[in-house]
Amino acid sequence: MSTTDKLIELSERRSAHNYHPLPVVISQADGAWVTDVDGRRYLDCLAGYSSLNFGHGNEKILAAARAQLDRLTLTSRAFYHDQFADFCAGLADLTGKDMVLPMNTGAEAVETAIKVARKWGYQVKGVAPDQANIIVMEDNFHGRTTTIVSFSTDPVAHDHFGPYTPGFRIVKYGTAEAIRDAIDENTVAVLLEPIQGEAGVLIPPDGYLTQVRELCTENNVLFIADEIQSGLGRTGKTFAVEHEGVVPDMYIMGKALGGGVIPVSAVAANSDVLGVIKPGTHGSTFGGNPLACAVGRAVVDILGTGEFQERAARLGEVLHAGLLGLVGQGVVTVRTRGLWAGVDIDPSIATGREVCEALLKRGVLAKDTHGSTIRLAPPIVVAEEDLAFAVAQLADALKELSAR
Ligand SMILES: *Cc1c(COP(=O)(O)O)cnc(C)c1O
Repeated sequence: MSTTDKLIELSERRSAHNYHPLPVVISQADGAWVTDVDGRRYLDCLAGYSSLNFGHGNEKILAAARAQLDRLTLTSRAFYHDQFADFCAGLADLTGKDMVLPMNTGAEAVETAIKVARKWGYQVKGVAPDQANIIVMEDNFHGRTTTIVSFSTDPVAHDHFGPYTPGFRIVKYGTAEAIRDAIDENTVAVLLEPIQGEAGVLIPPDGYLTQVRELCTENNVLFIADEIQSGLGRTGKTFAVEHEGVVPDMYIMGKALGGGVIPVSAVAANSDVLGVIKPGTHGSTFGGNPLACAVGRAVVDILGTGEFQERAARLGEVLHAGLLGLVGQGVVTVRTRGLWAGVDIDPSIATGREVCEALLKRGVLAKDTHGSTIRLAPPIVVAEEDLAFAVAQLADALKELSAR
């Protein structure tokens, strides 16, 4: 039995089957490339679901982490530490907001946004006790906690985990009328992904985010943008909402905020919103820890130069052009924004999973979303010729699968 097979067998036997990984066991990585236990190299076109926007082993991020590891890693929030102030101020400045609240995982930051919106609703907007509602979208993905799966429309994520948290109204994504119809005097927030990642990199129609912004302002409702996957350079901007020049009331960030090293998440908002949080009302033992803040500071510095945003925009055009060449040759539709692509495969040829397995054999790591859609999101450090390689392998995989 090969090392790969042994490690996969043991993983499957001794861990819960909450994932269905592709059959590759990775042991090393550098930039946009990973190496498996048998020494085979693969181009990483998933980048940890956009957690690795700045590349595997990014020197600036690793240097910050290494230096911090030797000095101070954890204090809890019972005390201040010397990395906290600059991380919070830097991230707040990056978002243009007054303040941030750091947590660890994306789901925790979404939970934070929900709590803040509800408390703001009761204390600032004047909603009657326990009557607040939050408008969310069909096909959303915001994480895996019991409250968050309560408003998931994906049966696999949602079913059998009830009783469910009330207070959410699910409407169609991409049409502002649906939100207008759902808003009432108890609505405290609209929570959405500016681009729906897990749903297949679904980009809403032009003008949608602007209309959502207007509706929220007119009705004194908070606009909360979950930028956990779409944010921090991926789409060619710091935040995906910038493509429409829209400013939400609250940003939710995660994934790439931890530089691919450690979970770091946060919400950012102005003090009239985040000010409702008082000592004891919310927190996390690890949220805002010194190591996380040191890594987060490096990420904020990197984003401050605009270099990665510019690179994602430029390489995104290259990827888009390459993928468009496959339309009609196994590919039905291509959606890209920056270096982020949703590719709908002709379902009569193959499932997304089959395409990803065929890509794996050809040295490309990618992940299917739903049905016959695959998502491509390589680290932004990826070389232009690597993108050509990925497109060529996809063409070859589709040719083989069509011939079955
Ligand atoms: C990944 C993701 C989350 C959840 O983040 P975790 O760190 O996995 O908890 C929430 N929202 C969006 C849009 C995501 O992509």
